[in-house]
Amino acid sequence: MSSSSQVLVLNCGSSSLKFAVIDPHSGCLSLSGIGESLGQREASVSWKCGGERQSAILPANARHTEVIRFLVDEVLSQHDKLRDQLVAIGHRVVHGGEKFSHSVLVDDAVLNAIQECVALAPLHNPAHLQGIEAASAAFPDLPQVAVFDTAFHQSMPRQAYIYALPYTLYRDHGIRRYGMHGTSHRFVTERAAELLNLPVNEVNIISAHLGNGASITAVHNGRSVDTSMGLTPLEGLVMGTRSGDVDPGLLMHLGSRMDYCLKEINDLLNKKSGLLGISELSNDCRTLEQAATDGHDGAQLALDIFCYRLAKYIGAYHAVLPQVDALVFTGGIGENSSLVRQKVIQQLRGLGYAVDDEKNIRARFGEEGPINTDQSAVTLVIPTNEEWVIARDAAELVPPDTPNHDPSSRE
Ligand code: AMP
Repeated sequence: MSSSSQVLVLNCGSSSLKFAVIDPHSGCLSLSGIGESLGQREASVSWKCGGERQSAILPANARHTEVIRFLVDEVLSQHDKLRDQLVAIGHRVVHGGEKFSHSVLVDDAVLNAIQECVALAPLHNPAHLQGIEAASAAFPDLPQVAVFDTAFHQSMPRQAYIYALPYTLYRDHGIRRYGMHGTSHRFVTERAAELLNLPVNEVNIISAHLGNGASITAVHNGRSVDTSMGLTPLEGLVMGTRSGDVDPGLLMHLGSRMDYCLKEINDLLNKKSGLLGISELSNDCRTLEQAATDGHDGAQLALDIFCYRLAKYIGAYHAVLPQVDALVFTGGIGENSSLVRQKVIQQLRGLGYAVDDEKNIRARFGEEGPINTDQSAVTLVIPTNEEWVIARDAAELVPPDTPNHDPSSRE
């Protein structure tokens, strides 16, 4: 591949737009930034290029279109060379339903399919559609590529993705487990295969993506065979503000006995639970670690439950996989919290896991590698890089007649 091509990666959330310009060959980041508080009075944008940080206030109520216009008119205009090297735009799309098991070039059929999945991702998919529309208008010559969070999990077998509900809910309404964070789990799978010196299609791992949102995936022969998130990102592990698994009977109890309406139940489970809800202090793992050290009981309990529940899922995924080549920690907590890793591995000692304390401490702050003792089950820390996956997929899908197209990118 030529080293001169660059991809603009866009991640449009409901009130934010993250952007990055990335070399798809090396993963090197030339420019990154974020538009925040979109649709609100105090909308703003900040960015970093070549070590220099800048920020600007956007017009009140500015949305994704205004951020992309600002990016073109004010940011990229200062970096002509970068602008000229762009070969594609890669969009993170949260939900692709059952239609997409790979990244695709955006056309009308793809836009319609993303629209059809709005019911499954009501906050995210409309924002992605706005972002794609704005980027197509701002960069009419460049191909737009959609990279789906759900795609990696489309390899799950039926027994893993069908809920034990009346089958008609799946057949007629698409209610099933889809999983999220697929781009991160895929990156980690490919990187783990490299570190373990195995072909990707022979690697078996348990990948724990632990950030503000958290999910865990069982990977067999390089393919996702089970994952903890379901129809929505609420199922599974304890998260920053999300409950993860609860007894579904709780919802009836809250509604019929405690007069909660649907919106209140939604807020409770998505925004007020998890680490924040248990600790009554914070959803931030760093704050909780410090508070627990200072004797805060709620912080200690939140961390204990987070780690215990995660260890239970890891145990379950040992039952899912015929063999496990490595347990992998990634995401903000997985990459940085030696305490969480240590507690989880301690809980898993019956399965042959043991942490090497020195390696575990050293694996903080973006360092990659094994953290297990010589005789114990392999445990890796791998910093995730979803933007790079999006840039790589986008570069690979660039049609030959695109400006700056590099034929070697289809290797
Ligand atoms: P993410 O959503 O992947 O950005 O991860 C956010 C989470 O990572 C937050 O809970 C942070 O507290 C946590 N995190 C980031 N750095 C550290 C650290 N050094 N130690 C513990 N947790 C961290």
